[in-house]
Amino acid sequence: MDDQEIIPPEARPTADALAKVAQKAGIEASPQTQQLAQVSGAISSISVADLKAHIAHEKEVRELIKVFITESLVDGVDYGKIHIAKDCQNKYNCKNEYHYSKACLFKPGAEKFVSLFHLRAQFVRDTDTYEMAGNVAGLFCFECQIINQSGEIVGFGKGACSVAEKSGNVNVAIKIAKKRALIDAVLTSGALSDFFTQDLEDMNLDGGVAKDDKPAPKSNKEKVEAIIKEIQVCKNIEALTKLKPKIMATLQELPAVYQTQVKQIAIAQKTSINTSQNDKPVK
Ligand SMILES: [Zn+2]
Repeated sequence: MDDQEIIPPEARPTADALAKVAQKAGIEASPQTQQLAQVSGAISSISVADLKAHIAHEKEVRELIKVFITESLVDGVDYGKIHIAKDCQNKYNCKNEYHYSKACLFKPGAEKFVSLFHLRAQFVRDTDTYEMAGNVAGLFCFECQIINQSGEIVGFGKGACSVAEKSGNVNVAIKIAKKRALIDAVLTSGALSDFFTQDLEDMNLDGGVAKDDKPAPKSNKEKVEAIIKEIQVCKNIEALTKLKPKIMATLQELPAVYQTQVKQIAIAQKTSINTSQNDKPVK
């Protein structure tokens, strides 16, 4: 495997976190993790005069993380690149490297990390995020806690998924929210985030969002604006009913955030039509 593929030159890892996780977990099985723990110990007792040594150690830790990735994780199974160019006709057989994401950590890779370091993942409801999101019905928010053999929490991550995003399937939405929390926890606690990004495979890539926190590309906005215009020119219920299949088809292509917007406008239009019809004088 080519290291350049998974470690971009600009990557600047804070790799000692992985070593700390290993140390806290009391790992002795792997010589790599023992080395990681030793290097981590050296880093934590740093003084200014040891700066040169610190830099050397950081390099060493970075090398060890590479060893962990190359020896333990399998390209295409535990991590991989995802085709994100939405206008490409060739999505399953595309050779254009610019059409692909940065390497993403997949669920099997995150699970392998947890298992190799004798850790376990525990999921709890993330009420903070749920409240911040405005207590939206059908939104599942989880926190994943990474726990070592002594029962200490050595890392955590958060993940959310809405039922609307998964076409009304509650079980899938819960599964995806937990998966996102697990991957986030491993990326954060394991210092692998400099090498990998979140698993993008379950997200609505070809429809728009490349990552949860990125603004959607213009094409989605254009789709939304177009369908809203069509909704707003409907002057009676018949026209609105006729448009309904098109509205539903458009919703399928849109991320959850836009779906809500379009639905609200459709409901508002229906209410407005009903109100204006009720206002007509009875003949
Ligand atoms: Zn392509």
